[in-house]
Amino acid sequence: MGLEILQSFSRTEWEAVFLSKAKPLLLTLDAAIAARILCEMSRPMASWGVLTAAFFRVVAQHVFEGYPLAFPPAVVAVYEAAGTGENLDTPLAECARCGYAHPRCFRTCVLCGGRVAVGARTARRARAARLN
Ligand SMILES: [Zn+2]
Repeated sequence: MGLEILQSFSRTEWEAVFLSKAKPLLLTLDAAIAARILCEMSRPMASWGVLTAAFFRVVAQHVFEGYPLAFPPAVVAVYEAAGTGENLDTPLAECARCGYAHPRCFRTCVLCGGRVAVGARTARRARAARLN
């Protein structure tokens, strides 16, 4: 299975933006992992596993928040082992510095070395905006 499956999605503006970010990120992944994500994304979202839901979240957070567009192997391995969607961590553990979402078992950002904790980025942003 290749990236052509993404072409079968209907094209709203959001989907076009999503695809423009998702495609290059998928190409950075192991081919079997990328194929699994593509296969799951062709099915209803409620049936996605943690890996695919996390991939979607990474792309969406990049588009809406400007967080890093990355899916590094250390993070992929944890999401892959988590299995089904009900095992997805919520709320997210996030990097205080760059905002990248991690599984809760991470204490240090795999991308920038910042502190990772639930609400870490949100708390930093609130302090910067003098909301607390
Ligand atoms: Zn970071």
